[in-house]
Amino acid sequence: MINHSNPPNLHILVIDDNPEIQKDFIKILRTNTLVHDELSSFEDKLFGAKETATFKLPRFQIDTASQGLEGVEKISKAKQEGNSYSLAFVDIRMPPGWDGVETIKRIWEIEPDMQIVICTAYSDYTWEETIDHLGQKENLLILKKPFDHIAVRQLSCALTKKWQLLQDAREHTKFLEDRIEERTKSLKHSLSITRGTLESSAECILVTDNNNTIIDHNNNIIQMCNIPLHILEKKDVGALLEYISHQTENSADFLKFVDELTLNPELTKIGKIKFKDARIFEYYSQPYKLEDQIVGRIWSFRDITKRAMLEEKLQHQVSHDSLTGLPNRLFLTERIHQSLLRSKVDNSIFGILFFDLDRFKLVNDSLSHEAGDQLLKAVAERLNSSIRGEDTLCRLGGDEFVAVITSLQDVDGLTAVANKLMSAFQQPFQIEEHSLNISASIGISVFPQDGKEIDELLCNADFAMYRSKELGGNQFHYYNDKLSQQTVLRFEMEADLRKAIDNKEFILLYQPQLDATTQQLVSVEALIRWKHPTKGFILPLEFIPLAESTGLIIAIGDWIIKEACAQNKRWQELGLPPIRVAVNIASLQLKQPNLIKVIKNVLQETGLKPEYLEIELTENVVINCAESLATITTLKEMGIQITLDDFGTGFSSLNYLREIAIDRIKIDQSFVKNINVKRGDEVIIQAIIAMAQNLHLDVLAEGVETQDQLRFLKSKECDQFQGYYFSKPLTDSELENVLRHPEKVADDLLHQKSNE
Ligand code: C2E
Ligand code: MG
Ligand code: MG
Repeated sequence: MINHSNPPNLHILVIDDNPEIQKDFIKILRTNTLVHDELSSFEDKLFGAKETATFKLPRFQIDTASQGLEGVEKISKAKQEGNSYSLAFVDIRMPPGWDGVETIKRIWEIEPDMQIVICTAYSDYTWEETIDHLGQKENLLILKKPFDHIAVRQLSCALTKKWQLLQDAREHTKFLEDRIEERTKSLKHSLSITRGTLESSAECILVTDNNNTIIDHNNNIIQMCNIPLHILEKKDVGALLEYISHQTENSADFLKFVDELTLNPELTKIGKIKFKDARIFEYYSQPYKLEDQIVGRIWSFRDITKRAMLEEKLQHQVSHDSLTGLPNRLFLTERIHQSLLRSKVDNSIFGILFFDLDRFKLVNDSLSHEAGDQLLKAVAERLNSSIRGEDTLCRLGGDEFVAVITSLQDVDGLTAVANKLMSAFQQPFQIEEHSLNISASIGISVFPQDGKEIDELLCNADFAMYRSKELGGNQFHYYNDKLSQQTVLRFEMEADLRKAIDNKEFILLYQPQLDATTQQLVSVEALIRWKHPTKGFILPLEFIPLAESTGLIIAIGDWIIKEACAQNKRWQELGLPPIRVAVNIASLQLKQPNLIKVIKNVLQETGLKPEYLEIELTENVVINCAESLATITTLKEMGIQITLDDFGTGFSSLNYLREIAIDRIKIDQSFVKNINVKRGDEVIIQAIIAMAQNLHLDVLAEGVETQDQLRFLKSKECDQFQGYYFSKPLTDSELENVLRHPEKVADDLLHQKSNE
């Protein structure tokens, strides 16, 4: 800062070889008289008008020297002491030493600002010569002798003041120069930090002004965006961004975005660009401000290729199944969502095909899980190559696949696709060294008629798939409302069935079986009924298949065996003639490893002898399961009778009969019904009876309803009969009644029949 309170320098040197003159000067300048009148006009001009009426001479500090050299020495000393002279009166002639001009020259070498008044009586040198000699005139004045007192005072006042002002000005200038240097240094420092920051950044940075002129950038942008020098030299950001855009996959998009920013300088934007060389950059563009005014824009680009690829990979993993590489449920949901939107716009339909592989579990269990995985992969490949590019195949998990078939004119198109996909399973799959014949059950739902929402469509396709499964697999079914109702009923029934045993809702009826020659009741077939709390009696054909598919048949079957044996034992304990009770065994029960144990326990607990128990198996049950042969043999060895039920309807070859340890066969009622109706069926009955006789097996005809049927069967030497002609299934007490009067059995039964 300038020190404005510097005291005025009133240090004056008089250099004159004449001591009288020196005294004169002292006298003139030290006389502290009122000098207002003399000085006022001068002061007014020089320093402005003052309010004071008087002017007091300042207290000058006056030194003298008689020679130039002495004067110069004093000046030098005073300077060293920090008390420089501001003014010197110098005589022009000072023999024998330096003259005035020489002295002044020396003075200025020491104190260039010192004010000098040359005192001369006559002119040794002209003014010009003097100036020429001294090289300057700013600090020089001439005072002619004899001196005018006022002039001396005026000069002293004015020139000491001038010296002071000059010093102040110099100090101020120095101060300003120092400030400037300081600021410049600090600016240079900040600038170098900024540059360092720009260059050390991994990003490409570009700074522009409002006229789209590039005002700064870092080297990264040149290297990473391959910017040639001639583009940079143009300083035109438009040209530079256009150059970058040509390297991207979608140049038009990027340029559109640049235009938008040019039109809207206040916008901040972030986005991604894909380069043709597969690099992916993220860009960020924001305006920058100076005192709240937008003055330009900063662009930064950074290479995010690795991150973006990782994100893509993760995205793929999240939305795809790792085994088959097919899209998963997440992707499927999104795909159906898009199809819904499109179909709503263009009123088209689309279909969802729900696949479930038939007997896949068997592959997994009997071969290996690796084989199962291979099969799933092979199925995925085959199905994928059977659908069009615009359709989508997904794996939901396990052996479930879903195909979304779009852009369909009508449902017929969908049927064609379903047929094509079914045919993909025609050729066996080669897995490890096995050639596997695999089929699929397919359910189809169609938008919009089968649902308007994703879950609804998927759920309904799933329902329809179950229908295909129930009907034996290797087929497809469309969803419809009826199917949905059936499914709901099926679920309800399943829930009820689970509670039925505990609620004691099952009962057994017993249908008599008679010997042909004696007309005596020899055995009964236990037939289950479900006394449903709200639906009344339900026949087995309505719930046994469901019990089988849900596995509930095991528990129900155990109860039947126990109940039938216990009941038979109760009759015997009542002293009634002993008879066999025949129990139907479902295929799942026969496969149960502990069936034998269950039966043994029941026989032990009830005390019924094994010869009074008979097991009815359908021929399909027997041949579908190799292990069941061993079970049958064991049962037979235990003394239990084995009967092949519904004979003639299955696929068992006659050869099979030789290998199974059975006691009798039951001719299915569908043949009996056709006696006198269908000659072919009569021939079959005849053949079955002949074959059974050959194998020494008993033959029973079931479903005998008429006398004609009975007569025909008797004529063909059928051994035993069961049917409404004799009796419907009876309750335990009804049967007890029949057993109490064995001698009247045939009559009673016939009587009962005639009453119906
Ligand atoms: P199934 O073993 O062939 O039983 C014979 C079926 O024919 C019985 O029907 C019986 O009531 C019926 N029937 C008997 N005589 C005549 C007749 O003269 N005319 C006609 N039209 N039908 C006659 P139900 O009781 O409805 O049983 C149907 C099937 O349900 C049985 O066929 C059997 O496969 C199964 N089933 C019945 N009870 C059981 C059981 O306790 N356990 C198992 N696993 N299945 C059972
Ligand atoms: Mg039966
Ligand atoms: Mg039968």
